[in-house]
Amino acid sequence: MRMSMRSPTSWSAALTTAVMTAAVAVAGCGGGAGSVMVDAGGDAAIYPPLTDLARDVVDTTLAVDLAARTARATITLAPSTSTGVSFEIGDLAIGAVRLGDQPLQYVATGVIGERLDIGVPPSTEPLVITIDYGWRYHNASNGVAMAGYTLTWPYHCGNVFPCRSDPSDGTTFHLAVIGAASGMAIYPPEILGEAPSYMAAWIVGDFVRLELGTTTAGTQVSVWHRATEAAAAAAGGAHLRVAFDWLEQRLGPYRFGTEVGTVSANWGGGAYGGMEHHPYWHVAAGALSDVSVNVHEAAHGWFGNGIRIRCWEDFVLSEGTVEFLMWRILDEVATPAVADPVWARLTTEVNAMRNGQGNGVAWPQSCGQVDILDDGLFSRVPYVKGAFFYRAVEQRVGRPMLDAALRTFYSRHAGQAAGMSDMLDVIEEVTGFDPTTCAQAWLVATTVPAAGACP
Ligand SMILES: [Zn+2]
Repeated sequence: MRMSMRSPTSWSAALTTAVMTAAVAVAGCGGGAGSVMVDAGGDAAIYPPLTDLARDVVDTTLAVDLAARTARATITLAPSTSTGVSFEIGDLAIGAVRLGDQPLQYVATGVIGERLDIGVPPSTEPLVITIDYGWRYHNASNGVAMAGYTLTWPYHCGNVFPCRSDPSDGTTFHLAVIGAASGMAIYPPEILGEAPSYMAAWIVGDFVRLELGTTTAGTQVSVWHRATEAAAAAAGGAHLRVAFDWLEQRLGPYRFGTEVGTVSANWGGGAYGGMEHHPYWHVAAGALSDVSVNVHEAAHGWFGNGIRIRCWEDFVLSEGTVEFLMWRILDEVATPAVADPVWARLTTEVNAMRNGQGNGVAWPQSCGQVDILDDGLFSRVPYVKGAFFYRAVEQRVGRPMLDAALRTFYSRHAGQAAGMSDMLDVIEEVTGFDPTTCAQAWLVATTVPAAGACP
């Protein structure tokens, strides 16, 4: 995701609405009145519903009907002795839960669902269960929007499919979306690298494809835009193919397919920024012409998605790294006229933070204790202070050494979850420089140190 100082109000308004919705939902939680118990015949049905949110989900296959507002989730569970599996289901209306043709016992807990507990047989083989459900529109950046896009970051996937919103959880995905009233639905039919739940998405619109060419590794890069946005797409995509090539060549192979690109999203309300729905990431129509937003979202294919964050507290490992790379890449592949204003904007932001405006902690020293929205971590702080931290390290150890550290980090953690502390370890291992004190100053402290090389 990319937030911008230029129009923060639209996002904060949308997120405030989302938080209020979540607060109402939580108030109704706790089982009881809203519980639905289903008990059906068959061998698999002897297992009562059991809460198990840790049961490993291997693959999530979704067949979504936009016209009927229904879907089938076919979910593959890893072998386990557990006789339960649980999902977040937001306000989904669960219709049937089956193992093959056998109904399973399940209970949807809470006034509007929120959690689905299912009883399943213990198994030494992967179990494939199907969940048929109805879904509702959500227009507060928390599900399927009537404007045609999905947006579930950070933890609203349950309004779209039975899911786990913990950012460290990864699953492969298969998607099929039918029934669009008009236009085309853009989505990946398969995501074969494990991805966080918020990455899976679709978007419907009358799109024109601007092909930007193919990278050295053979990845096709494009921008999908509306007919009226051709100039903005060309401007915003001007450095996207070469930036993607840089990421593949310098950090390592892309994990989410061979066709990628930006899709213009009609988020409305003057929204600015993007969302890392790889391989077809969404960029707000108002930001489509911004080279840096396009590169920022592309870089999430490596940090945030390719490597998931272990806890929301590690948000800086996703956004700080990507915000730095956005400038780092443009500084190499574009002219100073393109790259320098990108860093100048970050400098303006960090100076404002130094003067007490919008300042905070980029990297809280806990795991699983911070609500990314309610506790204020979703601000520009992890982005800006994170970028300045990496720049300080780069100025201390030299650009080739930091590049080498980022490459080592990606090769070691790709497909898994990692934390910012792992990044510090790899930087020290690869460069010989211990960045702990520098990270304390930039990321942990509430103050803002002077820009420049790490001491
Ligand atoms: Zn981002």
